[in-house]
Amino acid sequence: MQLFLHACCAPCLTAPYKHLSHEHHVTVFWYNPNIQPYREYLRRLRAFREYTSRINAEVIYDLSYPLEKWLHITSQLSMQNNVLRCRYCYADRLYKTALKAREMGYDAFTTTLLLAPYQKHEIIREIGQIISQKIGVPFYYIDMREWFDEAEDMARKAGIYRQGYCGCIYSEADRYWRENPEK
Ligand code: SF4
Repeated sequence: MQLFLHACCAPCLTAPYKHLSHEHHVTVFWYNPNIQPYREYLRRLRAFREYTSRINAEVIYDLSYPLEKWLHITSQLSMQNNVLRCRYCYADRLYKTALKAREMGYDAFTTTLLLAPYQKHEIIREIGQIISQKIGVPFYYIDMREWFDEAEDMARKAGIYRQGYCGCIYSEADRYWRENPEK
């Protein structure tokens, strides 16, 4: 199958790419406008470029970074509920992935967001399926969480930059402020 794989970062690409490319022709897609601040975005992007060139992966990039729009929408959603914010974030990335997959004639799309146990796995699955019906490209669902430890190990051994938070400034605050605020 010609599979279009959205990748959220280099560490999360490691084991999924290895396993999926055993059975499929995989093209990797970078589209992650949710990483803040911008220097962190560039750091992850650089790590991704370096790793994908090392493993000779075929990659397509969408480097759009609509910061104001992103913050406007996600700040409103965050005030209601963090889950809504993440739903929007998943849907935005998967929608763009599915559109690109259809435009380029891939058989199916999927995402490395299905790897990390701390992501909202069932929501990602549900959104992937909804978008698949809307766009008309199959969503290739696979529970990648069983590859998570292997991915961590591969990323460590490869010396890839491993970020400390999911991506948006809210997730950075959750990780570094809410868990350990200055008194
Ligand atoms: S926590 Fe992660 S998935 Fe949720 S909105 Fe922020 S970057 Fe997106």
